Formats: sequence, structure tokens, C-alpha cells
Amino acid sequence: MKPFVDIHTHGSLGEIVGLRSYRLGIERPTEECGVYSLGVHPWDVCRVENTQQLLADLHTAGCAAIGEIGLDKACGVDLARQLEVFEQQVVVACSRNLPVVIHCVKAQQEVVNVLAHYSTPFVIFHGFIGSIQQAEQLWERGYHLSFGFGALKSPKTVNVLRHCPEELLFLESDTSGESIGTLYEEVAILRGIGVERLKEIIFSNYNRIFR
Ligand SMILES: [Zn+2]
Repeated sequence: MKPFVDIHTHGSLGEIVGLRSYRLGIERPTEECGVYSLGVHPWDVCRVENTQQLLADLHTAGCAAIGEIGLDKACGVDLARQLEVFEQQVVVACSRNLPVVIHCVKAQQEVVNVLAHYSTPFVIFHGFIGSIQQAEQLWERGYHLSFGFGALKSPKTVNVLRHCPEELLFLESDTSGESIGTLYEEVAILRGIGVERLKEIIFSNYNRIFR
């Protein structure tokens, strides 16, 4: 039996495989945090001071991915500043050959435009909510989509969950505090496969990127 993978959580992972997400400049990863992602969240780009120092920290941190980083047009934070800090962090990810975990709200085209200038090894759009057309724009670039509990409440996103190519699929608990196993059960039903098969698919995606 393969383990559950939770590709994006703000809670502790315990026995579950995955990536714990830390907000650089706001939180500090602890010694025992295992595999984690680290990045200046778009919500935080005007709250954090001394971005240069943060970027230097990011360069030397023991993180497995840079994230969550990206653009959020619904949060009210200055978009030019978001863009600047996002791009700086994509540069760090490229220079360290690390995957990026993307936070993207109402700004997919802008995020895709930035990423198009760089050859980041792997891209994961976390908490994807959107239409099949939006998803296809990401799939055709080889970007991964990660779905949380919120996806189940959005009919167009449920359709994307059904059709997501298996090699680009991830699931996440994010800030929900809910058990990732519950999400696997729901998604397995949607895709017409067993939970064990879904665990195999996502564990193999995880290993391709992080092992
Ligand atoms: Zn998050």
C-alpha cells in the first residue's frame, strides 16, 4: 500500500508524505519539519521587510520547493509588488533547480506569462479552482494541478478533477484541517477508480519530483 501524499498543507504532516508550506518572513520552519516548501506568499509581499535578506535566506534554506508564491488579484495587495517578488523567487527556484508551488487567484494569465520566461523544473498550481479551458492552459505546459476540498464545491472544478491527466494530479489539505484521506475517497469516486490506485498515481507523481 502506498502512503497518502498531501502536497500542500499548513498543518503538520505526521505519518503522511508531502510538503508542509511555510510563509517566508512570517514563519520559520522548525528542525523537525521534514520536507517543506518556503516562499514569500503574495499576501505577505508588503508586510515583510528586507526582501533581499529573505531571498538570500531562500537561497540557502533546506526547502524542497519554493512556495507558495504567485499572484492574487483578490487579496488587495499591490499587484506590481506581488509581481516583482514572485519573479524574484522564480529566479531563485531556477538557480537552485527547485520546483515551485504556485498560489494563483484570478491571475492565471499573468502567472503563466512570468513562468514562460523561466525553465523551472516542476510547477504545481495549488488549490486549483477553474474551468477545463483554464486547466488545459496549464496541462499543455506540463504544469501540475493540486486540488483541495474547495474543488469539490465547484462544479466546473469537479469536471477538471475528473479529466486531469494522472501524471499531473495532486491533492492537498491546505488550511482545511481535514483529513486528506477523505479527499482521496471523494476524488477516487469522481475518477471511477479505487483509493489504492489513486494513492499509487499520486505517490508516483510525488516521487518523480521530490526523490
Ligand atoms: Zn496554502
